[in-house]
Amino acid sequence: MSARATVGILLALAAPAAAQHTRNVIFLTVDGVRQQELFEGADPILLEAGDKSGIEDERALRERFWRDTTEKRREALLPFFWTELAPAGIVMRSTISNPHRNSYPGYSELLTGRVVSEITGNIDLQNPAQTVLEIVRRELDLGPLAVAAVTSWGHFPFIVESQPGTIFVNAGVRDVPTAFANREIERWNRLQHRMPSPWDSVRYNAVTLGIASELLELYQPRLLFIALDETDEWAHSRRYDRTLQAIRSFDDALRALWAKVQALPAYRGRTTLVVTTDHGRGLTTEEWTSHGEGIDGAENTWIAILGPDTPASGSVDTPAENRQVAATLLSLLGLEPALLGREAGASIPLARRAQ
Ligand SMILES: [Zn+2]
Repeated sequence: MSARATVGILLALAAPAAAQHTRNVIFLTVDGVRQQELFEGADPILLEAGDKSGIEDERALRERFWRDTTEKRREALLPFFWTELAPAGIVMRSTISNPHRNSYPGYSELLTGRVVSEITGNIDLQNPAQTVLEIVRRELDLGPLAVAAVTSWGHFPFIVESQPGTIFVNAGVRDVPTAFANREIERWNRLQHRMPSPWDSVRYNAVTLGIASELLELYQPRLLFIALDETDEWAHSRRYDRTLQAIRSFDDALRALWAKVQALPAYRGRTTLVVTTDHGRGLTTEEWTSHGEGIDGAENTWIAILGPDTPASGSVDTPAENRQVAATLLSLLGLEPALLGREAGASIPLARRAQ
């Protein structure tokens, strides 16, 4: 850890809760992106494997993403993340606590702050535990669109709330109801059916991001959850070229979203962005495509935070846990992490940025 990060975290622990600048939180996840790609860029072992990694044009891929040092490689893959977000915020390696190393258990852990034993895989079960999204809407006494979830994967209506209808959810290849749509959202409603993705119940991230961006402007939610996919799907399909391209598109999305935040008066200087992933993936040329119980490395994740209450520490060595994310979201919105119950992970300590 840098001396600066140590000081920041010590100050946060020592100081009483200072007045926070954050009013809004955007919580964004990207499915199954490994620490290897996030911290080191394109993996030399998977590139070396060529068409065994499903790479169709190795030369073009190397030109785009290969550099001689890990710092340059990760900047080629995630230029906004490493040259703008990280220097102004905080990036940590993290781990998941659930043994399943699968998506629903992973998202539930992020949203409830704990391992929910009933969630053993991507099952059709309404989340038995209340989520941070539900708690925020209730505790801040917010309107029906002030806590919103917009997701590429269609399974999220089970995941994001224990009481269906508590928050606004638009998940998978489903339309935003006309009552809540503007012309641009109506256009995305139509387009998503005209451009089916290769995967059942998953729409393209461009649609999810297009709708989320409109909702941000129209309804100015206090807590917006955006869940992106594609990265996980291409990896399962053993297409390392497409996986890298999807990670790069995720970086472009972060850049666009942060620019949008700065352009909206209600959000500029008052919004914190929290970014993470639901699980890692395997480490070897065979297992990188997969995750789940028994896949070594799939427990390894990462968390990044950028906003007015976040120290500009860059990448720090303090390990975090995904089950701390829910409490961190509550703290950022001025609510008590204890609302999640005793089993939940503690809030990640953040020091207020010098004014
Ligand atoms: Zn996943």
